[in-house]
Amino acid sequence: VAVVGAGLAGLTCAGALAGRGLSVTLLDFKAHPGDRVRTTGIFVRRTLEDFPLPGDCLGAPVRRVVLYAPSGRPLELESPRDEFRVGRMGRLYGRALETAVGAGVRWWPGTRYVGLTPRGPHAVLHLERGRRPEALSASFLVAADGARSALAPDLGLDANRSWLVGLEEVRRAPLSGRAPTFHCFLDPRCAPGYIGWLVEDGEELHVGVAGRPRGYDPSRALAEFRARVGLGAAGATELLERRGGYIPAGGVLAKIGCPRGLAVGDAAGAVSPLTAGGLDACLRLSHHAAGVAADWLDGRRESLASYGGERFRTRLVSRLALRRILDWGGRSALFLEAAHGALGVPPLKAVARHVFFGRGSFPLPAPGDPAAALCPSAPEPSRG
Ligand SMILES: Cc1cc2nc3c(=O)[nH]c(=O)nc-3n(C[C@H](O)[C@H](O)[C@H](O)COP(=O)(O)OP(=O)(O)OC[C@H]3O[C@@H](n4cnc5c(N)ncnc54)[C@H](O)[C@@H]3O)c2cc1C
Repeated sequence: VAVVGAGLAGLTCAGALAGRGLSVTLLDFKAHPGDRVRTTGIFVRRTLEDFPLPGDCLGAPVRRVVLYAPSGRPLELESPRDEFRVGRMGRLYGRALETAVGAGVRWWPGTRYVGLTPRGPHAVLHLERGRRPEALSASFLVAADGARSALAPDLGLDANRSWLVGLEEVRRAPLSGRAPTFHCFLDPRCAPGYIGWLVEDGEELHVGVAGRPRGYDPSRALAEFRARVGLGAAGATELLERRGGYIPAGGVLAKIGCPRGLAVGDAAGAVSPLTAGGLDACLRLSHHAAGVAADWLDGRRESLASYGGERFRTRLVSRLALRRILDWGGRSALFLEAAHGALGVPPLKAVARHVFFGRGSFPLPAPGDPAAALCPSAPEPSRG
């Protein structure tokens, strides 16, 4: 099996495939998966509870959220539980790579996927290693090459067409002694259709914006947003990194598997259309995909039938509906101010708490959960 892309999805899937005894090559054009990280790295409680992420790769737990209206009016939400932790993503990717290689994965850094030629039951991958062309034959392919996957469409799978664009700075947190907090800003100028965020966990401070790409300049929006949150002055706190990229916003794609291979993570559109969180989906869908691929290669041909996006999309209906509402009203300060006001009223405050603190995430159980036995590689009942 060849896995293209060593983000969280590819690293997880490659390790899980090797753990099932398959011969796996994992390749990425980066020299190390921790180079040029794209994500803020906020992990939600459900992920933290279900997956054993190494504690030294996570920041301090966050229990407090403040949601600001365009006017600056705050709505405070506090949880009795640890709700979020910001991953130290470079370290976390490094650890996931060590685990995958330890399980037998062959690691090809500095290798770019450029094309594909089907040859009988196999596929020949055309690659560039350094500047040299190279070919790799594989019986099954995993597209884990991110939001703008080149491999998924070459396999005949669906491609993302709906986006948010995000940009953030990682800064050293000031010595404040404040409780770790996730500040979210409704801001139609700086973050049309999404939010601006500032996460402080005592060590790192992430300040970022995302919005619908049409007419959106993330660099300008981030500069304006930094000023709004009091980080405008040069040298406010030490700048450590700048991160960003495209975020699929249309929900998990319909066709994500075929006899030659499948897509995982952003390449499958497996990102919450509402919160834009994709890390939980990377872990769940990649484990599931590894089971499906192993069964398929073992001759259980029906396994691929369980790997279709429609099956997951039906469980994301409310999030897709809220995404449409945000697309419609997210550029209007008046709408956002009214929505924020409504969320402060008790019955709707529960909705806000549910969005931030609920256990809803990607609709697949974690491996090891008894419910997982009902779905990983089992075919779905016939729909007639
Ligand atoms: C600014 C921003 C902030 C975010 N914050 C959060 C958050 O806080 N919490 C959360 O849950 N989600 C967040 N997300 C979403 C989340 O980061 C993604 O859903 C997740 O990281 C996707 O992982 P992936 O492995 O599918 O893709 P990626 O991490 O994009 O990995 C794809 C890999 O493929 C490689 N690649 C691409 N093309 C090729 C090629 N042709 N040949 C070889 N290699 C290739 C790339 O180098 C890369 O390593 C954020 C996204 C952005 C952009």
